[in-house]
Amino acid sequence: MQQIIDFHTHAFPEALAERAMRQLVSEAEGVVAWLDGRLSSLLASMDDNNIETSVLCSIATRPEQFEPIFKWSREIASERIVPLPSVHPDDPRAVERIGRIAEAGFKGVKMHPYYQDFCVDDPALDPLYTAMCDHNLMLTLHTGFDIAFERVEKASPRQISTVLDRFAQLRLITTHMGGWQQWDQVERYLIGRPVYMETSWSLEYLDAEQARRMLQNHPRQFILFGTDSPWTDQAASIRAVEKLNLSESLLEHLFYTNARALLKD
Ligand SMILES: [Zn+2]
Repeated sequence: MQQIIDFHTHAFPEALAERAMRQLVSEAEGVVAWLDGRLSSLLASMDDNNIETSVLCSIATRPEQFEPIFKWSREIASERIVPLPSVHPDDPRAVERIGRIAEAGFKGVKMHPYYQDFCVDDPALDPLYTAMCDHNLMLTLHTGFDIAFERVEKASPRQISTVLDRFAQLRLITTHMGGWQQWDQVERYLIGRPVYMETSWSLEYLDAEQARRMLQNHPRQFILFGTDSPWTDQAASIRAVEKLNLSESLLEHLFYTNARALLKD
């Protein structure tokens, strides 16, 4: 059976899960929770779906959230759960905190231009990108529009391409196939470049032909499987990829080998 790594999931500390999920569901129309936001539920879903490991992304929506997220991420790290802590770009200690994240042995950082209110190509972010390169941390970035926010460009494929131009060493993981609801721009600016992209929340929206074309035209060592669980069902996300009629070798890269290689370094 195909081994699977899910490169994009979320969960919350036990004491916060219920409130956080209620709030996030109420913020955007069309958002449905498939799990209750607890780590135990994510692990059960992984067991049901033959998912070996999940990358768990947290988002510091305020600078002060760095510490609690960092602490919780340390507690839950395991063979099966690879947490990515988060720094807020307005945090005056953000660069130092990138160093702490690396020292603690984490693989990377998660940032979200809408929840953290920044543009990915703002030069103010450069010291953070430099620190991530220096520490060899990957950066998982929400890319494209976000269902819960007004459509102002903050992480468009064009903006991301300028970050790639300036930070060739940055191991950047773009979510939602390079940019949610900006896939024509993804094909224009990102497909073919050395940037990772994962599949979450996109196969439900893209037509199959475009999705297949994008995945086939991108360098195969840069494609990853992601679900954004609990906001999607991991089982349905696996089926959506399987329905694309991709080659065995491409599926193996997408579901497992690329993610395993990234998490090993
Ligand atoms: Zn997400």
